Amino acid sequence: MQAQPTFGALFRSKDKRDYTILISEKFKITGEEFKTVDVPSDVLVGWLGHEMGHIMDYQHRSGLNLIGFGFRYVLLKEFVKKAERAADSFAVTHGMSDYILKTKRFILDNSDIHPTYKERIKQYYLSPDEILEMVEEMDSTKNG
Ligand SMILES: [Zn+2]
Repeated sequence: MQAQPTFGALFRSKDKRDYTILISEKFKITGEEFKTVDVPSDVLVGWLGHEMGHIMDYQHRSGLNLIGFGFRYVLLKEFVKKAERAADSFAVTHGMSDYILKTKRFILDNSDIHPTYKERIKQYYLSPDEILEMVEEMDSTKNG
């Protein structure tokens, strides 16, 4: 899945932009092929939530900033980490934590998924523990 502004949207004001989320019918994780329809629905919801998190991140950026974002994402590993963790955080602070956790666990606990991909997920995304910590923190500020 991939969230991105449409090309024309880069030249429009922030409130008139549109975004697309591309979803493949099948996807390959280090050689193993998965069909999107076979993925549990909660996992897909978590995945969509993460992509919506990217869109929340894009919303307040200028068109020029988004173009720079694209380049930095391709070139800088540290930037990928920042962007992916931001998307996870947006999703978690907007109430998607249960789904995001299901998506993580689907990947990290799945014996069909290659360890190389799991390492990538651990390297660039929020870990289940970090998400649980965020939720605890949110709950404690909510309850006084
Ligand atoms: Zn992402």
